[in-house]
Amino acid sequence: MDKVLIVDSSKVTASFIEYILKQEGFLCDLAYTYDEAKELIAHNDYFIALSSIVLEGVSSGKGIDLLLENDVPTIAVTSSLDDEILNDIFKKDIVDYVLKKNEHAEYIARIVRRIHKNKGLKIMVVDDSSAVRNWISNILRRQGLTVLTASDGKEACKIFYKNPDIKLVLTDYAMPQMDGIRLTAHLRSIKRMDELSIIVLSSDSNSRTAPLFLKTGANDFIHKSASVEEIFCRVNSNLESLELIAESRDLANRDFLTGIWNRRYFFEYANPLYNEFTSLDHDLCLAIMDIDNFKHVNDTYGHDAGDAVLKIFSRKLFNYVADRGLVARFGGEEFIVLLDSVSKNDLYVFLDDFRRAVEKSSVEYNSERISFTVSIGATAVKGNSLESMISCADELLYGAKASGRNKVICENK
Ligand code: GH3
Ligand code: MG
Ligand code: MG
Repeated sequence: MDKVLIVDSSKVTASFIEYILKQEGFLCDLAYTYDEAKELIAHNDYFIALSSIVLEGVSSGKGIDLLLENDVPTIAVTSSLDDEILNDIFKKDIVDYVLKKNEHAEYIARIVRRIHKNKGLKIMVVDDSSAVRNWISNILRRQGLTVLTASDGKEACKIFYKNPDIKLVLTDYAMPQMDGIRLTAHLRSIKRMDELSIIVLSSDSNSRTAPLFLKTGANDFIHKSASVEEIFCRVNSNLESLELIAESRDLANRDFLTGIWNRRYFFEYANPLYNEFTSLDHDLCLAIMDIDNFKHVNDTYGHDAGDAVLKIFSRKLFNYVADRGLVARFGGEEFIVLLDSVSKNDLYVFLDDFRRAVEKSSVEYNSERISFTVSIGATAVKGNSLESMISCADELLYGAKASGRNKVICENK
């Protein structure tokens, strides 16, 4: 359901918005009249609609009312920044408004993208006043967010432990049992600022309050007199920052060519897992694989063909291992696999089945079929460090190469 409905009597405006949103990859339906909009919403699902406040042939705001009555989250499109018009429009349960201006194209794209991403995003509103709680929750639910609520810091902590995927907490300051400062400090001790955003919404007018919160680890502070518009702009920009950081972290952890985890991430993930599995005495296996005679692939078919082989091989390995462990590109045509759900006794068969699947398959590149094989060294002996597992697997891989390649050599005792 990635479809957007654009309702505007002006074909120029409708096409302008359609152009912006198509570039973002959204499918758009256009309605130029109230009746066309009615017909389209009867037969389609839209995650968002953008509608002009004024539509030809019906009174002002009627198009927006139609969309809201049909539970389509709606962004009002206006050419006016007139206070009276905007106040009127905000009395309706709209998501936001945007201006029909070229310089607002980026904002239009951003807000639609935001609403689309909000699906499935969890946030929590903490306030001892049920009126404030409901008011804020309703604003945020309109943005497509999943909103949980708590009436004080203590309840908020309980909810947070059950829902560690909460991305943003909007909290009041003065509350019984546990106030906003203590809640902020507690949440910050379990989640970093780039993993969980904490916004404080308080009516406290002491000029020391905001800095106190920010120093305790809040990401933002909003005064309760702020407009609805300001609250959701701040929530949106905090969510955007979290996502930008997560995206850049993900980029830093992935191999550029194949998209699988890189060597750096492998160690970040594998070291704590090794320690945990060693203390629990659980089976943990490690394999290093190296494509055989890969230089020959490059020399025969060209470097780009070699790249294609690496991409397809890594996808195949990634899919094969699935949730049984972590796959990373260790360097060149060498891959490392840490298996946390394959037992010692099954290790050889598990890897040899993969080796045979690679042997049987081929990669098509520029109408040429490229066949290749892989050698694998693996160990189920934890030794005294992750490094010792790696050097052991590496030695066994060397043995597989030396004894003819296309082979798995395993050590499990
Ligand atoms: P062996 O069976 O002993 O492993 O032989 P090999 O030819 O696979 O190993 P060797 O280490 O001699 O050569 C590996 C080649 O892999 C050399 C290098 O240019 C190539 N290679 C490394 N990274 C990439 C890459 O990202 N893309 C491509 N196309 N080639 C790469
Ligand atoms: Mg090789
Ligand atoms: Mg190599």
